[in-house]
Amino acid sequence: MSVVINDTCITCDACLQQCPVNAIVDDAANPTGKKQYYVQPDKCVECVDIYADPQCAAICPSIGCITWDMPFTKEFDEHFKNEEIYKLGVNKEGIVRSPAYKEKKFRTDIPLEIRGIGKEVQEEPEELQEVG
Ligand code: SF4
Ligand code: SF4
Repeated sequence: MSVVINDTCITCDACLQQCPVNAIVDDAANPTGKKQYYVQPDKCVECVDIYADPQCAAICPSIGCITWDMPFTKEFDEHFKNEEIYKLGVNKEGIVRSPAYKEKKFRTDIPLEIRGIGKEVQEEPEELQEVG
């Protein structure tokens, strides 16, 4: 990854079943302690090779709730280890599952300029935008 679920999550549960790699956990299992669903960045593959778009964002009813973050690659190891919106798991040997441990697939067609905490995956549908 990854994509990020922010605090506009209404805990509707729609995304959890939709994720093809079981990367999403519910608010009760969110390792950061926040009362919102959580994408495990070390599991999310941005739906690469499975779907054309992130399926969590496609089904989420809360516009702007799911945003692009940086690719889960070694280049961004410190980002995923240090940002407080993440709490990475550890393996059996106690090694943090950061990108340096194992990188994940990401959408190469999504440029870095539109990635980062707060960059929306899902655009507001035209029919919901104000006219005039
Ligand atoms: S982008 Fe795809 S793989 Fe990542 S959390 Fe969303 S549904 Fe799962
Ligand atoms: S679909 Fe959106 S609002 Fe519903 S639980 Fe997932 S992130 Fe939260």
